[in-house]
Amino acid sequence: MARYGWQCIACGERPTWLSVCRSRSVAAFIWDELMPSGWDQTLLHRMCTCKRNSLRITSKLKRGDPERVSVEHIVGLGPDGDQLTMIWETFRHADPRVRWMDFKYQKGRSPWGLNKRLVLEKSQLSRLLGEYQRVTGDVIASKPALAAGKVVQGRRSAARTSAKPRRKVSRSDP
Ligand SMILES: [Zn+2]
Repeated sequence: MARYGWQCIACGERPTWLSVCRSRSVAAFIWDELMPSGWDQTLLHRMCTCKRNSLRITSKLKRGDPERVSVEHIVGLGPDGDQLTMIWETFRHADPRVRWMDFKYQKGRSPWGLNKRLVLEKSQLSRLLGEYQRVTGDVIASKPALAAGKVVQGRRSAARTSAKPRRKVSRSDP
């Protein structure tokens, strides 16, 4: 289980949980503060003593690895019973421009599910992406792209590669 704490991505300061919010752990913070706020993302971007809005929930990438991962967004569905289904948008300190989408769940204030594989109903994934878009204003998949079948998508990317410069992230393009 990764240990999550607050860290300033500008000055490196690592304040305690209770000096930043009212909760003692990431799972409690999500259950008691973030989810009830309607996933208010400003709760994830806190002011540091260095006067920058740079405190982020942060953990080590792996045990023994100095690389750290910080959380930019957490958006979720639920509670469904006691379960929250979430997208975490994170970045590694070595390259903050690259964003990672991590699908996670938790039950109540237990962090147990945060490191487990998450399997979603297709409709849940769609709702989760919709909620992410509503809360962050950031579109992951536009409607035509979601609705497009493989054939159409293949044609589109073929047209795109001939008409425009290659997209940076299009690893699956020929
Ligand atoms: Zn700071």
